Amino acid sequence: MCWFSSTPPSWFDEFYLSLSLPSVMDSSVVSTSTVAPDEFDRNVPRICGVCGDKATGFHFNAMTCEGCKGFFRRSMKRKAAFTCPFNGTCTITKDNRRHCQACRLKRCVDIGMMKEFILTDEEVQRKKDIIQRRKDEEAQREADKEARRPRLSDDQSQVIATLVEAHHKTYDDSYSDFCRFRPPVREGPVTRSASRAASLHSLSDASSDSFSHSPESVDTKMNFNNLLMMYHEQDSSPDSSKEEGSSFSMLPHLADLVSYSIQKVIGFAKMIPGFRELTAEDQIALLKSSAIEVIMLRSNQSFNLEDMSWSCGGPDFKYQVSDVTKAGHSLELLEPLVKFQVGLKKLNLQEEEHVLLMAICLLSPDRPGVQDHARIEALQDQLSETLQAYIQLHHPAGRLLYAKMIQKLADLRSLNEEHSKQYRSLSFQPEHSMQLTPLVLEVFGSEVS
Ligand SMILES: [Zn+2]
Ligand SMILES: [Zn+2]
Repeated sequence: MCWFSSTPPSWFDEFYLSLSLPSVMDSSVVSTSTVAPDEFDRNVPRICGVCGDKATGFHFNAMTCEGCKGFFRRSMKRKAAFTCPFNGTCTITKDNRRHCQACRLKRCVDIGMMKEFILTDEEVQRKKDIIQRRKDEEAQREADKEARRPRLSDDQSQVIATLVEAHHKTYDDSYSDFCRFRPPVREGPVTRSASRAASLHSLSDASSDSFSHSPESVDTKMNFNNLLMMYHEQDSSPDSSKEEGSSFSMLPHLADLVSYSIQKVIGFAKMIPGFRELTAEDQIALLKSSAIEVIMLRSNQSFNLEDMSWSCGGPDFKYQVSDVTKAGHSLELLEPLVKFQVGLKKLNLQEEEHVLLMAICLLSPDRPGVQDHARIEALQDQLSETLQAYIQLHHPAGRLLYAKMIQKLADLRSLNEEHSKQYRSLSFQPEHSMQLTPLVLEVFGSEVS
């Protein structure tokens, strides 16, 4: 009985180590019942080579049923020696396979079943251990992956919810208030309507309310009085600057629009978690330096890539670059501004990302006049982490999105600088600065008072 050889062949170890790796399986040597179904169908009939019963796969190197598989293993383990009670030529069938163990075992060997394919108890245990270790490793990998997967903490989710709500409260996408501004004039001479003064009044009230605890509200009133005086002086004198005025025909409307937007930015800032706990001085310093940037950011919501305009309702409130030049700004600001709007629009930010970016912009610790640098930096860091976690979670393909958003903040700095430059030269001219609102003068700086 040469097939009782007790030394496993050298490929044995390798073979059973590869048992759980289907890709390296060779169907001719597989001893388990796990055979790839297509292989099963293609090569061999599912008939037990020993007894003709329904086979369950390759067992110990031959296609057999479960019964003959167990019989062969038991016989080998027991090192059983059977004797045929007949003449050693019994035909084994499904029904009689129990009658002659000797002929059944001989048939097993004849069709190629091999003792070497039977694992010892230790080998079975080793194999089980290996399979278990693989499972454990896989579970560990999954756990690691899960742990690395970014998630939003409750605090972060709350911050996002707060900011989204703050934005909804301060950004009216019906733009219904725009008709309360001094009307836009795109051609012809400037018409001085009585509504201008009324508009100045209402905006002034709103602004002093926004800053009711700020030491600057006094200045606001002062500015406002100066403005009114200048307004009356100008009005009572003959029209000396009609031509000049007409070239800035959009200034009153856009000044009101910017003033209105500043109020909304202030409202938004006050709802950013942590902002109101800053000193009034720091709140003002942050707002003064970032207001125009946040306005540029939020205006992206109305920006239209098709015609490069800001569309805020009806045709009156659809703003082209040419409209902004009629408010005294030159292309040195407007060209990069439109480029910025296009780039930002193309980032396709989700609302959550949009509001986080505005809050991050507002809470930049490196603004002039900021006192509690560390505290503002900590608030901004929290917002940045929240934004990064949000992006990783909701923008799996947007690995560079955060970097691109931060680049937009850098772009805003140079836009801010150019805006300040142009604003300064405009506000130096009383006939133009008088068109501004007290809030605009207060926030962007007043050069005339
Ligand atoms: Zn069988
Ligand atoms: Zn027999």
